[in-house]
Amino acid sequence: MTTKSINAYGAESATAPVHLLPIERRAVGPHDVEIEIVYCGICHSDLHAVHNDWGGTVYPIVPGHEIVGRVRAVGDGVTRFKIGDLAGVGCIVDSCRACAHCHDGNEQFCEKGWTVVFNSKDQKHGGITYGGFSESIVVDENYVVHVPISLDLASAAPILCAGITVYSPLKHWKAGPDKKIGIIGLGGLGHMAIKIAKAMGAYVTVFTTSQAKADDAARLGADAVVLSTDKNQLKTCPKQDMILDTVSAKHNVNVYLNLLKVDGSLVLVGLPGEPLEVGAFNIVNGRRSFSGSTIGGIAETQEVLDFCAEHHITADIELISPDQINAAFERLEKGDVKYRFVIDMQPLRS
Ligand code: NAP
Ligand code: ZN
Ligand code: ZN
Repeated sequence: MTTKSINAYGAESATAPVHLLPIERRAVGPHDVEIEIVYCGICHSDLHAVHNDWGGTVYPIVPGHEIVGRVRAVGDGVTRFKIGDLAGVGCIVDSCRACAHCHDGNEQFCEKGWTVVFNSKDQKHGGITYGGFSESIVVDENYVVHVPISLDLASAAPILCAGITVYSPLKHWKAGPDKKIGIIGLGGLGHMAIKIAKAMGAYVTVFTTSQAKADDAARLGADAVVLSTDKNQLKTCPKQDMILDTVSAKHNVNVYLNLLKVDGSLVLVGLPGEPLEVGAFNIVNGRRSFSGSTIGGIAETQEVLDFCAEHHITADIELISPDQINAAFERLEKGDVKYRFVIDMQPLRS
């Protein structure tokens, strides 16, 4: 297979900083789109993976799964993209395309297992996938989405993971005008969840450990905010229909299960490396559910991009250059970002 050497940022071990390194990208196949990456968001999952929080990380790892850019080349069989188009790539770059879930556009549930854009076995081309902390990427057009031109490109990048990851469960659990929706954790996912749940018409309450972020929640659109370190605020909080948990570290979910109405759901999207404990009475009482959700399919990723364009929603970002990724990782680890780092990839191309 012919390949091309390009610039990327990756880590050689769980404790090593990311640094500039060359990687090989496959040549553009008949159904492939080559995208010049303009911006890539930094999700906490990138950090978990670099730190091997979930086990299974293969080094060197090139993270990055909130990719936006411009189409630079297309294969002969490509029908949905042309050179110059804006394009986005999220977590999924391939799946079996044959199972019932792939058929329904829910590639995230693919029975054979989908291919993650980074640190995943590339079942079709061999090797390990390298993500968006790089100057370009080659992806089958079926796994590429259109980025609406009305969106600011840098602040639209986080929609590709943070946006879809919160949109999918909010839609599934029917966030709407008559619903009280809670959001735990005011980070990348959390701040997108406020904006999207508000656009769906829900009454949104944010739970944060940070006083500074609590002060900012109303600006982001929240109707109410609870400082979760304050027991009195938790005690007086009204019961919620659904609470979306975006916390990246081990925490006590029982507090939030007890804030649910009868038949309410606590929906986990955060991915702490350690197991979370659930007290039996906290779900048995009130027939409550503790459930989870992972990203969303390709069609739904397009849907959330279009939804965000319609409702003028983008992420609040801090734009950085590739040589600032390590500093950004350190701040992300401490929850110190308002509210998503996005890397400008220009320096990698020059
Ligand atoms: P993030 O920007 O770091 O936000 C996480 C927030 O969690 C922090 O801002 C903080 O909010 C809160 N938090 C962190 N440590 C905490 C602790 N010890 N106790 C209580 N709260 C704590 O991360 P993100 O990019 O939004 O990602 C959040 C999680 O979702 C990560 O675990 C990531 O891997 C996962 N994720 C899952 C999916 C999926 O498909 N399921 C997709 C993307 C990401 P406050 O400062 O407001 O308290
Ligand atoms: Zn992510
Ligand atoms: Zn499948």
